Amino acid sequence: MPRYEKIDLHSHYCPDFYREALINNGHKNPDGMPGVPRWSEEAHLEMMNKINYAYDTLNADGVALKANHHGIYMGDKHLDPVFEELNRRHAIVFIHPTTPCLQDGTPAVPVNLFPRSTYEFFFDTCRAVINLFATGTVSRSPNIKFIIPHMGGAFPPLITRFSSVAPLLGLPGIDPQLTPAFCLLEYVTVDRIVYGSDFPWTPLNPVVSLSDEHDKYLPVVFMDEEDREKLNTKNALKLLASAGPALRSARMSSEKKSIVIIGGGIIGSTTAYFLTRHPKYDPSKHSIYLLEATGIASGASGKAGGLLALWAYPQSLVPLSFRLHKELAAEHGGVERWGYRGVGCGRVELSGRKLEAKEADSKTSPSTTSSRENTSDAHVSLQKRSVESHARLKKTTGLPHDLDWIAEECVESYDNMGDPSDTAQVHPYQFTTSMASLASEFGANTILGKVTRIEDEDRPIKRVHYHLSQPEPTSSTSSPQPQVLEATDIIITAGPWSKHIWPSAPISNTRAHSVTIRPSRPTSAYCLFTSLLLPKNFKSSIIINTTKKSRATHVVTPEIYSRPNNEVYACGEGDHLVPLPASTADVVVDPTRCEDLIDYCSSISDELRDGQVLVQQACYLPLLSGAEGGPLVGRTESPGVWIAAGHTCWGIQNGPGTGKLMSEFIFDGDAASADIKDLDPRRWLKH
Ligand SMILES: Cc1cc2nc3c(=O)[nH]c(=O)nc-3n(C[C@H](O)[C@H](O)[C@H](O)COP(=O)(O)OP(=O)(O)OC[C@H]3O[C@@H](n4cnc5c(N)ncnc54)[C@H](O)[C@@H]3O)c2cc1C
Repeated sequence: MPRYEKIDLHSHYCPDFYREALINNGHKNPDGMPGVPRWSEEAHLEMMNKINYAYDTLNADGVALKANHHGIYMGDKHLDPVFEELNRRHAIVFIHPTTPCLQDGTPAVPVNLFPRSTYEFFFDTCRAVINLFATGTVSRSPNIKFIIPHMGGAFPPLITRFSSVAPLLGLPGIDPQLTPAFCLLEYVTVDRIVYGSDFPWTPLNPVVSLSDEHDKYLPVVFMDEEDREKLNTKNALKLLASAGPALRSARMSSEKKSIVIIGGGIIGSTTAYFLTRHPKYDPSKHSIYLLEATGIASGASGKAGGLLALWAYPQSLVPLSFRLHKELAAEHGGVERWGYRGVGCGRVELSGRKLEAKEADSKTSPSTTSSRENTSDAHVSLQKRSVESHARLKKTTGLPHDLDWIAEECVESYDNMGDPSDTAQVHPYQFTTSMASLASEFGANTILGKVTRIEDEDRPIKRVHYHLSQPEPTSSTSSPQPQVLEATDIIITAGPWSKHIWPSAPISNTRAHSVTIRPSRPTSAYCLFTSLLLPKNFKSSIIINTTKKSRATHVVTPEIYSRPNNEVYACGEGDHLVPLPASTADVVVDPTRCEDLIDYCSSISDELRDGQVLVQQACYLPLLSGAEGGPLVGRTESPGVWIAAGHTCWGIQNGPGTGKLMSEFIFDGDAASADIKDLDPRRWLKH
């Protein structure tokens, strides 16, 4: 009789320390077995001398899971994160049965005459496998290859029962068309059967005699020599060889991370910063790339107001981020470096004073086009307060005594919204660029390049395609050369452009203009949400086409923030007149909108009227389209691809919290510093 060469996919490793621990802790007879067998590597190799080949050359690896752990069966929701991770790693999962248990962990062995392995194991395997199907774990884990021992245990004869009952119970189950047959071969082709010895729980002599028996009857069932080879070796080789590279890649993802962040606004920069400060970050092992198309903070993150508030939204993220702003400022000299300070904040109702007739030319003139359309797209409110927070505001009368740079005769009412204990500010450009350079100091690489696409196919190593924004001086052509970065993790932080990179992300945008003015004297630390009734002679671009009556009563709502560097920032309502351009470098600034902002400021403040206009600019605010809530912070539907985008008008406030949580997702697998389930991107991503 020929002896077939086999690869053993069911054997146990039972080192001495494990054996002793079992015996010393009351498990002399685990699962009712007569004892704990002795095991050594040498004995195992002697039993199966091909193990070296499988172990060293094929990188044999995988995960062995018990069918149940004290009554928690495979498929239980508590194990979902385990299967999610195993799926991500394309793992081979070997399920081994054990003593059946009730849900409270009590062993359930009604008949105790035999060791559990004699027949209880078979039912336990069956229970676990059915639970895996019935809970949808199998369909949610397409990358996992399961090895079910003992020819599937009691599962094959019960498949029909299960598949016919499952639909009646509304369980996802398996194919209801399966035909009844008491035979594994009805369901499993010869391509899916492998050999297993169960050594050393099955001692050497029985292993040999069972193997001989196996070889004797094999030609009876499988007449084709090729089928026998498959069953004995080829299937195992295929399984292990295919798993080899996947496992190596997966190991790279847990050991050597290559993290690519797309977009160098505040979200990308704080993410890079917190990744480099994570306790598990090791620059000799992990690579972090911050890919930015135009320039760090060249979008909204460099042109925002910079208000921070404990009363901002969403409340799942705000307290963490507000605290981190304070800590970062203390650690890195943020008061000097990025103008961190506490501020007073209020909503002020104003009546603007008459302005002198405006000069035709603007006070500074960006080389841009102008648009004076007055459609519904022409002004979109950017008010930061939610209705709830508004209701909570404490109404007061009169201006705070130190808010002396607003002309008193213009003030109708003042509602206090915050004070330095719960409201602060930063200079967004200085803060964002500081975060990026502090990340670089700890090993993050900033690359000026525009991402064109990502290949996130179903494998652990993904590819990010991009063009360098400035072609290398050595390059013979002026056209950008395509570049590729390999990544274990990709984090999309491209603000309003995120949808261009990840089309299922429901991120839209609004253009918004802003100006900065150097006042004629320093201004006290207040950020104001104004409601400004324009004077009758006001030639605002947004009311130029309205009727006489509405012009007389037009109210605008600019936000006006004093900044510590003797600067005042003002931003106006948003508009949808110019669609999102290809990059931040192509943003169109409408000078008339900036002039309006300057005039609004002039109509209520002598210090601003007599000041010097420093900057006129526009940018695009990232919004969530057609949905409430957000931002999106966490996993996408594709393992290894993450997103942190859609921060609306609180991205500066919520940047550090987002960065910190993203670093925890990447290195720890989950966000620990705040409960942000409400921000899980998979709630919004459109398939
Ligand atoms: C007028 C105004 C005032 C605001 N005031 C405040 C405030 O007071 N407080 C507050 O908390 N928030 C404020 N915000 C909101 C805040 O500015 C935003 O939420 C925040 O800046 C968004 O940051 P981000 O990093 O997601 O996006 P962005 O700042 O837009 O950054 C995205 C980056 O991605 C890059 N990018 C895009 N496509 C690619 C690509 N293909 N490859 C590589 N890189 C790419 C872009 O060049 C850009 O630099 C304000 C916003 C506006 C418009």
